[in-house]
Amino acid sequence: MKTIVVGGGASGIIAALKASETDETIILEKNDKLGKKLLLTGNGHCNYWNKEIDITKYESDSLEILKNIITEDNVDRVYKYLYSLGIYPREKDGYLYPYSNQAYSVREVLEQNINKKSVKVIYNANVKDIKKENGKFIVFFNDEYLSCDKLIISTGSKAYPKTGSTGDLYPILEKLGHKLNPLYPALTSLKCEGEFLKIWSGIRTDAKVSIYVNDKLKKEETGEIQLTDYGISGVCVFNISSIASSHLNDNVTVKINFLPNVQDFSSWLWQRSQDLSNSTLEEIFESVFSYKLSSIFFHMAHVNAKAYYKSLTASEIAKLNEVITEFTVKIIGTGDFEKAQVCKGGVSLTNIDPLTMESKKVSRLYLTGEILDVNGICGGYNLAFAFITGFIAGEYHA
Ligand SMILES: Cc1cc2nc3c(=O)[nH]c(=O)nc-3n(C[C@H](O)[C@H](O)[C@H](O)COP(=O)(O)OP(=O)(O)OC[C@H]3O[C@@H](n4cnc5c(N)ncnc54)[C@H](O)[C@@H]3O)c2cc1C
Repeated sequence: MKTIVVGGGASGIIAALKASETDETIILEKNDKLGKKLLLTGNGHCNYWNKEIDITKYESDSLEILKNIITEDNVDRVYKYLYSLGIYPREKDGYLYPYSNQAYSVREVLEQNINKKSVKVIYNANVKDIKKENGKFIVFFNDEYLSCDKLIISTGSKAYPKTGSTGDLYPILEKLGHKLNPLYPALTSLKCEGEFLKIWSGIRTDAKVSIYVNDKLKKEETGEIQLTDYGISGVCVFNISSIASSHLNDNVTVKINFLPNVQDFSSWLWQRSQDLSNSTLEEIFESVFSYKLSSIFFHMAHVNAKAYYKSLTASEIAKLNEVITEFTVKIIGTGDFEKAQVCKGGVSLTNIDPLTMESKKVSRLYLTGEILDVNGICGGYNLAFAFITGFIAGEYHA
């Protein structure tokens, strides 16, 4: 039996390795090397897995179907498979990286296995069309074509297109009868407006971010936030970004709590004033926030930085509370696909048999990885999904 895998990213490589255990296997890859996107992951360190993988970390049009893909058994056996290939892990707060801390070494391990298993890779092969005739697939690339019995599509999404993931296969799959759910940038920064942007640009601090659509709370995340001259960024912002990008025609706001560990701001402020008697507000906040951030808070709350706690009115304390624990920004945009780490949306999971990753529209056609309507939060979940689905599709034999 002959299997072709279109796309030599994380998912396609694992699919090809598994398929090659029984089939003659060929990867058609648009780039001149495998796993170009892998090199960029985890800021070059490749956060390829997580100790706690379950469906609560994902968004999809069908979480019920996803439950049959992200099973304990699949998570366990794919993790062990990656280990058996040679990826030795280092764990940090549940996030798994290669021990070398270099994404390059993950790509190398995968490529070495591709060579060992005699998977043929055709580089610079830009797949442009697929047809099925007399039970066989014909895959057209550049000015050539190849035929095969089993076809695995692992071409990723349209996020970060300079890595080769340009969404070329979406229209082809639609033509073959698949449902394509709308595509939005995800794991990206948020744009907002306000005088304060040029002042807070460059600050990193801990915060809780809560995203609202038409005043309805949708999601909350806590972690490091990066304040920039266009808005907000950082892992916790990335994790709420798909809600913003898919609701930009609505009223999207984010409330930032710059003191996420403080339960009651008024009591906290009173206690600080007691601990630091005879200190001005500016001095009370000195080691809590950067000077620039405090200056924004004082300005927006209309309080004097040189004031002493005892001179503050109840409404001034309430206003300070509001700007520090519920700093509200209106979201006017998100980072685009050029910079988004993943894509929300894609081929509907309802078109897929979760036990095999086979299309319900075209037999012996399998879809894996980010081309599907599944996106995870930061933490290794997206690569894990790509590896797990590649593994399932590659190992299955009709
Ligand atoms: C900057 C960045 C950092 C990230 N960091 C992390 C991280 O730390 N942890 C994590 O879990 N996830 C991370 N991700 C997300 C993760 O990289 C992707 O979810 C994952 O790579 C998807 O794997 P895939 O195999 O489905 O697609 P891809 O890795 O995108 O691979 C698709 C492959 O298909 C090829 N291709 C496309 N079209 C064609 C065609 N027409 N013909 C032939 N070949 C084609 C492409 O060239 C590419 O090689 C990050 C993403 C980015 C952009």
